[in-house]
Amino acid sequence: MMFHEMNKENVEKALKTNVQTGLSTDEVEKRRRQVGDNVLDEGEKESALVLFISQFKDFMTIVLLAATLISGFLGEYIDAIAIIAIVLINGFLGFFQERRAEKSLQALKELSAPQVVVRRDGQWMKIPSKEVTVGDVVKFESGDRIGADVRIIEANNLEIEESALTGESIPSPKSSDPLTQEHPSLGDLNNMAFMGTMVTRGNGIGIVTGIGMKTAMGEIADMIQNAETLTTPLQRRLEQLGKILIVVALLLTLLVVLVGVWHGHDIYTMFLAGVSLAVAAIPEGLPAIVTIALSLGVQRMIRKNAIVRKLPAVETLGCASVICSDKTGTMTQNKMTVTHLWSGGHTWQVSGTGYQPEGSFYKEDTEINPIKEKSVYQLLTFGLLCNHAELKLKDKEYVVDGDPTEGALLVSALKAGLTREVLLKQFAIEQEFPFDSTRKMMSMVIKDQHGKRFVITKGAPDVLLNISKSVLWNNREQLLTQEYQRNVQQAIESLASQALRTIAIAFKPLKDYDVIADENAAEKDLILIGIQGMIDPPRPEVRQAIKECKEAGIKTVMITGDHLITAKAIAKQLGILQHHKKVIDGQTLNQMSVDELEDVIDDISVFARVSPDHKLKIVKAFQNRGHIVAMTGDGINDAPAIKTSDIGISMGITGTDVAKEASSLILLDDNFATIKSAIKEGRNIYENIRKFVRYLLASNVGEILVMLFAMLLSLPLPVIPIQILWVNLVTDGLPAMALGLDQPEENVMKRKPRHPKEGVFARRLGWKVVSRGFLIGIVTLVAFMTIYYQNTDNLAYAQTVAFATLVLAQLIHVFDCRSEHSVLARNPFGNMYLVMAVLSSILLMLVVIYVPLFQPIFHTLPIQPKDWLLIICLSMIPTFLLAGTFYLRKKA
Ligand code: ATP
Repeated sequence: MMFHEMNKENVEKALKTNVQTGLSTDEVEKRRRQVGDNVLDEGEKESALVLFISQFKDFMTIVLLAATLISGFLGEYIDAIAIIAIVLINGFLGFFQERRAEKSLQALKELSAPQVVVRRDGQWMKIPSKEVTVGDVVKFESGDRIGADVRIIEANNLEIEESALTGESIPSPKSSDPLTQEHPSLGDLNNMAFMGTMVTRGNGIGIVTGIGMKTAMGEIADMIQNAETLTTPLQRRLEQLGKILIVVALLLTLLVVLVGVWHGHDIYTMFLAGVSLAVAAIPEGLPAIVTIALSLGVQRMIRKNAIVRKLPAVETLGCASVICSDKTGTMTQNKMTVTHLWSGGHTWQVSGTGYQPEGSFYKEDTEINPIKEKSVYQLLTFGLLCNHAELKLKDKEYVVDGDPTEGALLVSALKAGLTREVLLKQFAIEQEFPFDSTRKMMSMVIKDQHGKRFVITKGAPDVLLNISKSVLWNNREQLLTQEYQRNVQQAIESLASQALRTIAIAFKPLKDYDVIADENAAEKDLILIGIQGMIDPPRPEVRQAIKECKEAGIKTVMITGDHLITAKAIAKQLGILQHHKKVIDGQTLNQMSVDELEDVIDDISVFARVSPDHKLKIVKAFQNRGHIVAMTGDGINDAPAIKTSDIGISMGITGTDVAKEASSLILLDDNFATIKSAIKEGRNIYENIRKFVRYLLASNVGEILVMLFAMLLSLPLPVIPIQILWVNLVTDGLPAMALGLDQPEENVMKRKPRHPKEGVFARRLGWKVVSRGFLIGIVTLVAFMTIYYQNTDNLAYAQTVAFATLVLAQLIHVFDCRSEHSVLARNPFGNMYLVMAVLSSILLMLVVIYVPLFQPIFHTLPIQPKDWLLIICLSMIPTFLLAGTFYLRKKA
């Protein structure tokens, strides 16, 4: 028999498991050893060797190696070996850089890997989907992605979208009954749920029947392997730029060679010098350093609780000009406590803090017994019944497992001494219509001990008011006349204006013959009992984060399903509603087209009582106004808006799998302040990339120009090929990487967002590269000429001095690159990585100059102390000359 044909008991028997308790930890370990991880095989990975060899496939490197071999055959053994050694070391560096980049990307992927709720040793727990095994009891609900193949044992209005497997995009309804149909197709198996498919409605429990490659998805895994690695716009732009730079570097090098030969230099020497120069000047390491800077930045973001799912988001973050954020849980703490009850014109206060189930009930400062007041008793009882939350004691603190709103209702009932266990002895739950944020309510059909059935509905009070026919007033049912409606409306507004989140509770008795086919049948003609009002305090850090965003030219917009007045009260507390900014609600939004919204959207700061589909409209309207929009969301219905926004953000704790998959950034702590940190980091990463692009290119310009000028002046080579290669290796490697780790400049969150189309050389970067490079070239040439003309017989000594000047000028210039302004704008020791990198580069330079072993290899001679003065002064000129002009310009 197949699993879909068996009844529940037989499935349990066949898989040796129990739905009530799940598997035991020991059993899980045993099974996992047997069947392995629940993962799909990944495609072939590039082997380390291939990656290493690929470091040398660059055209100029091949030419250099060939030229070196020729020089080796001609007897220049030492030169040849040294050059090959340097090329190899360079290759290793590139290899490790790329490896590291790849590893950290892989680690990222694992961090955002899907999770599954399983029951083990009787407890429900969330585990990485990789650890699920055959026989595990799993639970899933709307918005979840199914983690393995599952035989459904319990289904509540369960619908699953299986287009990944069947191509059918309309979700299929699921049930738990055994199937009798012979040879059903995959699409007919409506008591099975398959790995990779998506729950779009309801919830369910099931037993895992297959994992990993032994699932329906596993069978077609080859087809769905998409090893898509996204590159960021900047990476692509740099790639294009790299191609242009290669051509420019080659042309300039050719010019150097031609001029050199024309002025009587030996062709072979000029050829090798040209090739070395080309290898040094072509910034082949740039893409790897960019990836590393991006992934290191991404790791820094993880430490600040933001996981980047799609690398391009790192860059887009720096361009964000609007953040549309959910209120509940993101701006507020999502720790709800009922403080007020309202029913039939009376208000009660509830004392106590947080989820601590201790507190009393008061009416006008007098303590009352809530069980004795009928409407209070009903409000609390029904709030507890129509509820899935559980209260747990964790590290001496009460926490809610489930929806915090329901947690608050659970706690208010507990304060009155009511428990669900006792209630469930009197009432049985027959049907359930789960909460969704479009309907803004949920309902249950309940049967009491006497067999009487009734509907309980809880949800947004204004919504419930619309579908109620009467209201309990002084324990009597009264028809909802306009006057009663006004009274209830006033009560809602009065609670909301105290920043309270409100939940109304209503019910209706059913006749024996009443059939409740769907939620529409349940949710009409209700009797409104009353309202529970709960506080959800703002997160303390959010106000400051919103202020910082404002200074950074980023507008914060609150989007919430809550009541307009509640939203407004909280927005005021958080500093969102300032300077005549407006608040509008879902109803008004419904009547507006995207174009109409676009005209006024810049003035709106709060959208209240919205449904998820409004979010899409909001994103589009902002985008049409030219904004780069970050949009948060957690539910399955938020996915389209998250996807459409420029930076889709999902919640790590409360987010559904679907929302997470649609997003490019996940907030591990669901906190708004984390978005601000991520934006700051995003801006910083971009600036750091600019810093090392500037450093590397200016250095390269300097290297080419010193050679070109020397050739034009008919001088000997100021630096020889092996020295150029060394400069390329040492100064380009560590210091450039260290720049990628630089801290942000103080004003990083004080400027406007960057324009997304901004080019690599924008904001005078091109000018900085050329001018600094030019100066580095000139001072190196001056150092060379000064020493050379003192004693033209000692060319090698002049070359050593030029070499030292070139290295030092670059190493001083690297500090200049830390600021958009000048070297003096920042503490030069602020980036210790950079200081260490520069010191070790200087040390390596001294080794090459002073250690006798290296002198014949690098053709160096020990530099005398008096000449160091010249070298140091000259190499400081580019940086300080420009700092001086910057200072003068600023003063003027
Ligand atoms: P956001 O997270 O977007 O700031 P929200 O969490 O307040 O907004 P929803 O969860 O869609 O938005 O809730 C909208 C309204 O639905 C709430 O104001 C509340 O009245 C009602 N509501 C929320 N949760 C439940 C629930 N579990 N059962 C019944 N009604 C609920």
